[in-house]
Amino acid sequence: MFSADTLLQALIPHPSRYDMPQTLVAVEQTANMGGGAVWDVRALDAVAEVARARGIATHMDGARLMNAVVAAGVPASDMVAGYDSVWLDFTKGLGAPLGAVLCGSREFIDRAWRWKQRLGGSLRQGGICAAACLYALDHHIDRLAEDHANARILARGLAQIDGISVEQPDTNLVFFDLSGSGMEAEELAGRLRGHGILISIVGRYRARACTHLDVTEAGVREAITAVRDVLGDDARNVPPA
Ligand SMILES: *Cc1c(COP(=O)(O)O)cnc(C)c1O
Repeated sequence: MFSADTLLQALIPHPSRYDMPQTLVAVEQTANMGGGAVWDVRALDAVAEVARARGIATHMDGARLMNAVVAAGVPASDMVAGYDSVWLDFTKGLGAPLGAVLCGSREFIDRAWRWKQRLGGSLRQGGICAAACLYALDHHIDRLAEDHANARILARGLAQIDGISVEQPDTNLVFFDLSGSGMEAEELAGRLRGHGILISIVGRYRARACTHLDVTEAGVREAITAVRDVLGDDARNVPPA
């Protein structure tokens, strides 16, 4: 995540032929590696305004846009208003088996469609996929609040375990650091897999957990217990000094 000011400082005032052309500013809503953090609509507008003033196109990678919409209580139309193009995934939190859309002007979409075909992105019988995406739009947006509540339960539970520090989640992603436990994220992930719990490894001691419509509150509590057990087991396995 960055501010309009940071963007201004990154722009080259009088580009020479040696400079990389600066033609696109992209923001990610929510910011995955930012902890699933939500871009504030004022910050989004300010960034878009700086770009527009320089004739630079703007894109919102809104893979998790609806998580931001539900968390902030701001309509998607307001969040995307300053952006030339927007991406939205129907998978991820919205729970469709596949599907995503790219939105933009008619001219932009015509060009994007050609690139999609050139890259092999062709699916003739796409209607059955679109039906699942439409279902997700009708039924799976408001319920994202449950994922956010579950993420907060997970964060609170993990924070109570010795050796773990947790970043307070904005949405459905929970990042935590277990360096205090001495166990590496890869080992934790491997041992949790044995309990049927999957987490992402995002650093030597840093992991990411994600709540979504297949994860119940009971499942979250089970995950907290499993992490506690795995770390506790490990502590017992440390040879006496
Ligand atoms: C998942 C994701 C995408 C695209 O994913 P698809 O499965 O190809 O739709 C794009 N951007 C971000 C930030 C994502 O998380």
